[in-house]
Amino acid sequence: MEKWILLGMAPVFLGLIVLEAWYWRSRRPEMYSWVDTLSNAGLALMHQVADALAWLLVIGLYYWVYQYRLFDWPATLWSIFALFLAQDFLYYWFHRASHRIRWLWASHVTHHSSERLNLSTAFRQSLTYPISGMWVFWLPLAWLGFEPTHIIAVVAINLGFQFFVHTQAIPKLGWVEKIFNTPSIHRVHHARNPKYIDRNYAGVLVIWDRLFGTYVEEDPEVPCEFGIIGQVHSHNPITLTFHEWIAMFRDAGRAGGVRAAIGQLLCPPERAASHARRDP
Ligand SMILES: [Zn+2]
Ligand SMILES: [Zn+2]
Repeated sequence: MEKWILLGMAPVFLGLIVLEAWYWRSRRPEMYSWVDTLSNAGLALMHQVADALAWLLVIGLYYWVYQYRLFDWPATLWSIFALFLAQDFLYYWFHRASHRIRWLWASHVTHHSSERLNLSTAFRQSLTYPISGMWVFWLPLAWLGFEPTHIIAVVAINLGFQFFVHTQAIPKLGWVEKIFNTPSIHRVHHARNPKYIDRNYAGVLVIWDRLFGTYVEEDPEVPCEFGIIGQVHSHNPITLTFHEWIAMFRDAGRAGGVRAAIGQLLCPPERAASHARRDP
């Protein structure tokens, strides 16, 4: 089911990317670059394959947890709403952890490593998410009694929604900014300016950022600078996928002792040993 949702949306995604690239062509042609878009496409394909394999591997575990479920949800709209809300809440914490724990950042950094931000950036993903353990974050949903196939569908819908927030073509959206993740809110998330970095972790709803103190509004006085601290100067999907894993294990190997090595795997990215050697 999950595949059909995203596959069914594929013409919409591709159509909008073409439309956005055409829109910027005469206005800000630097917004799209062929090599950047192609590397995003390559990363998207690699991620899709890894994601499908990962679900095949973990779906059994989901059903195992599901048999010990706490609740049985009736097939109503309210149940779907509860699942959506719970998954979006867990997405917030997954995403926040992905920025603050290096083991997860090693996967998520790929999504942030372009200095461009356009709709094609949404597809810039890492095939290593299953190794980082993204699937662990949705396991509580099975325990709460949601059917594993429904969980997969809701995860896919959440990620599908996020495609639309990867654009600089849409201004702030008024009251919508109070409730939903929007292009403006997600531009801030992709910016490395000190004011913006590690903020706005929202998936669909921005209420979690507002609730847990990670919300920052886009400031017209502070234009977003996209990318990461210690920019990777490569368009090679393999380099973009593995550079942080390599740096992380190298740091762990040089840490001197098991405790320090584990520290290198779990520390926030800016406390990584190799961080100090990187250019800002
Ligand atoms: Zn992020
Ligand atoms: Zn993003």
